[in-house]
Amino acid sequence: MPLNNKGAVLNREKLVAAREDKVLMRENAADLREVAVHLREGRVTSRELEICATEAVQRVSDSRMIMLQQANAHLVVATLESHRLAEQVEVTKVKLEHLAHHDVLTGLPNRILLQDRLIQAIESACRQGSQVAMMYIDLDQFKHINDSLGHSVGDKLLQSFAQRLKGCVRHMDTISRQGGDEFVVLLPCIENPESAAMCAQKMIAAFALPHYIDQHELHISASIGISIYPDDGQDVESQIKNADTAMYFAKGNGRNNYKFFKQEMNDRAVQRQSIEASLRRALERQEFVLHYQPKINLTSGAIVGAEALIRWQHSEYGLLSPAQFVSIAEDCGLILPIGRWVLHEACLQARLWQQAGLPSIIVAVNISALEFRAREFLDNIRQSLEETGLEPRCLELELTESLLMQDVGSTVSIMHALANLGVRLAIDDFGTGYSSLSYLRQFPITTLKIDQSFVSQMCNNPDDAAIVSAVISMGKSLKLCVIAEGVESSEQASFLLAQRCDEGQGYYFGRPMVAESFATLLQTGGTLIHNWGGKHFHSV
Ligand code: C2E
Ligand code: MG
Ligand code: MG
Repeated sequence: MPLNNKGAVLNREKLVAAREDKVLMRENAADLREVAVHLREGRVTSRELEICATEAVQRVSDSRMIMLQQANAHLVVATLESHRLAEQVEVTKVKLEHLAHHDVLTGLPNRILLQDRLIQAIESACRQGSQVAMMYIDLDQFKHINDSLGHSVGDKLLQSFAQRLKGCVRHMDTISRQGGDEFVVLLPCIENPESAAMCAQKMIAAFALPHYIDQHELHISASIGISIYPDDGQDVESQIKNADTAMYFAKGNGRNNYKFFKQEMNDRAVQRQSIEASLRRALERQEFVLHYQPKINLTSGAIVGAEALIRWQHSEYGLLSPAQFVSIAEDCGLILPIGRWVLHEACLQARLWQQAGLPSIIVAVNISALEFRAREFLDNIRQSLEETGLEPRCLELELTESLLMQDVGSTVSIMHALANLGVRLAIDDFGTGYSSLSYLRQFPITTLKIDQSFVSQMCNNPDDAAIVSAVISMGKSLKLCVIAEGVESSEQASFLLAQRCDEGQGYYFGRPMVAESFATLLQTGGTLIHNWGGKHFHSV
């Protein structure tokens, strides 16, 4: 029963008792008065009067007694109740205290508790002359998983990731969640920065294992930035800020790796911010341009395709390559409108070449993970093809291995929807990701693109040569077209031809070039085989 109700009942009982008591006393007094009249008139003896009076008094005091007992019982109940409430208040206080210092989703310390522990760690490092490492960890492309599979899967992934982190640190270390997909790990009392590097390596190895969430097998890597006290900052704020800056550099360096903070990173971080700001206006100012790099049939030497590669004509920094802005565009979501523009522009260009009567080729467009998993992706492709009139079989989408492996279940269905449109699908940078061959069979791909890191070394490193020839024969047996990228010499081209690789792309055959140059090349050099012998083609 709620407290105020209970109080009301108590009061009511008291009132009733008091009223009964008064009635009783009034009745007793009336009895006594009657007996006294009888006595005066000699109708009762004084002994009888005495007995009557005693009984009356007893009746009153009995009811008082009951009242007292009742009051006592209420008091006991009230005391017990107040003890229970005090306990509840205490438990709530502890809960509130925990909430104020922990993250609700993962149960990890939050930024307030982290600050507290960092202050303590810095103080004790100061006394002992030891060092403190701060690791800023950000999940790579978590947004795609959240956007495509929903927040509930995203939340569970964050919980699973937090568990994974716990397995990588010492008892004395603090793992905290900063919010979103950002975590900070504090390693107090380390002897040297190498200890932090070892911890980061351990984490990256642990991140490579998949997470099983609902029916999904999810792969998520993370980028780690490390700052060390006292070298990289004297106070809490600068330690966290510098670790965060270093994390951005780890991301820019291809993600899934760690970077120690360096002072010059701050200048570059400022530049990065300025790039992000101008990136927002670049589309409307028409500052992007596509360069096209030829793809060659190794047997005939004919140009069979062109890879569209984006460039940014920046008013201040000059011509920027994708490495300088694509990851920034991905981080701030601008890759979606930019990617749409690339698709449309490449389809339009391919159609214009066809209409100019040039040899028919396939145009390839690079797709980033965010685009691939965006709801409107399929519609964008359909629209670009319709608007430009390009046949679907003339468009190839280059998807990286790591993109495909992020969530295999949804990848398979998106890939099938794309294949149904009739476009070609290539796996770019093949060999650098973690794709399992059994998954490969499930994807309706048409092309395997061997990563240039193997191609560049295959003529002097037998391991790379073995990998290249294994990928070629695997691709052949899966009836896929195999292309090698980054071909820079006739020796490499000859090796690939000997291994029966279908196509080649690289500076040896032609650098990425503006559309007009590519048209000239198509017109004059539809066959390039006679140029094998070391002569480089057009450069921009
Ligand atoms: P990618 O798709 O693997 O493209 C191949 C990269 O290798 C290109 O760099 C190309 O210029 C370079 N390359 C070609 N031949 C050679 C060679 O013989 N030697 C060497 N060392 N490099 C060669 P680029 O244009 O700087 O592009 C880098 C990456 O940026 C691309 O790698 C692709 O992943 C991404 N990218 C380019 N354009 C776009 C785009 O429009 N959208 C998206 N999402 N990503 C793009
Ligand atoms: Mg590519
Ligand atoms: Mg590539």
